[in-house]
Amino acid sequence: MKRRNTKQIKIGDIGVGSEFPISVQSMTTTKTRDTEKTLEQVYELASNGADIVRVTCNEVEAATSLIQIASRSPVPIIADIHFQYKLALAAIEAGVQGLRLNPGNIRNEIHIKEVAKEALLAGIPIRVGVNAGSLDKDIANKYGDSTPEALVESAIKEIRYLEQVDFNNIKISVKHSNVPLMIESYRLLADRVEYPLHLGVTEAGPLPGGLIKSVAGISTLLSEGIGDTIRLSLTTDPIEEAKYGRQLLEYLNLRERNSLDLIACPSCGRAEVDVIKVAKEAQEALEEKGFPIQVAVMGCVVNGPGEAKSADLGIAAGKNKGHLFIKGQVVKVVKESEMVSSLVEEGELITKEGIEARLAAADKDAAKLAQKDAEELINMQGDINEFKSKARSVIEITSKQDIDT
Ligand code: SF4
Repeated sequence: MKRRNTKQIKIGDIGVGSEFPISVQSMTTTKTRDTEKTLEQVYELASNGADIVRVTCNEVEAATSLIQIASRSPVPIIADIHFQYKLALAAIEAGVQGLRLNPGNIRNEIHIKEVAKEALLAGIPIRVGVNAGSLDKDIANKYGDSTPEALVESAIKEIRYLEQVDFNNIKISVKHSNVPLMIESYRLLADRVEYPLHLGVTEAGPLPGGLIKSVAGISTLLSEGIGDTIRLSLTTDPIEEAKYGRQLLEYLNLRERNSLDLIACPSCGRAEVDVIKVAKEAQEALEEKGFPIQVAVMGCVVNGPGEAKSADLGIAAGKNKGHLFIKGQVVKVVKESEMVSSLVEEGELITKEGIEARLAAADKDAAKLAQKDAEELINMQGDINEFKSKARSVIEITSKQDIDT
């Protein structure tokens, strides 16, 4: 997908804009005044995929804590400001790497410009963070509702204030909790400005609905080249939103894989094991190891290795056995009880030695054993490919009859 061309900005050492990889953001849920607890969560968020972390700055004690938090954090810190512009000034003084201002509740032009002048001196960016739920009242009244046009007008109004004091170090968000309206708001905004955009569905809610809404909204826009940094606003442990945000970008090939990608068949009547159970166990065991590879868990050998041949590593269930395969080639046949442990063992070796070396070290008899096992299963269950070809014949016959009539 071709990214929309934007201005480039820097939040600490993280670039945001079309020349930089799309970044993942998350937000702490601790009281900011509790410096140590907040820093602990920031570290955890960073190690689970957050490139940038936002922290609320809602009181003087929070602003004071930001001195330590911003200087000791492993990732850039953005101070989230609502209502009190003086806390924005304090956060700049504390050394944060970015600010988020809500135009819906800091509306005084003089105050906004004062913050922008200080941010300009400090060399830090401001996110103009419009939110449908806290839209500027005058604009909400004008449009009668939080429409995409209203959200964009609020963002543009704030940007003009910033630009009037030569402040261009800007990124923007126009978040809505309604996915189609969120998508429309960002599309409109992308046509009007060149600033990088921060994507998110606001108040998306708990799992799984919140995740589905976030992925639907964010992915639609990313597929159109819109969006430079993302946040999944989920009502769950923020560690999960950081992790899912990162995974989303990895699954879309927008970031390099640095975590496990476990794929698994949905299971069916042919499955020789409880695929759901094995996949869950494999996911837990492999995630703990942090292997950055794609691993497949397939319920039967009849179709498993072939269907998952793009996976770096996989296991398919045979008759009381597991066929361990690398890039679709069976390298070892193991006991059913060893399916998960053999994945972990081989995952370790692939990570250390590489795929080619592990294919070269394959058990020479494994392919034969696997073939024999697969044939036995086909004899028991019937050849699914034969069924498919018969099904095609039936369709062909039906369509011929259509033509004759
Ligand atoms: S891999 Fe086997 S068990 Fe899994 S869905 Fe396909 S045919 Fe069914």
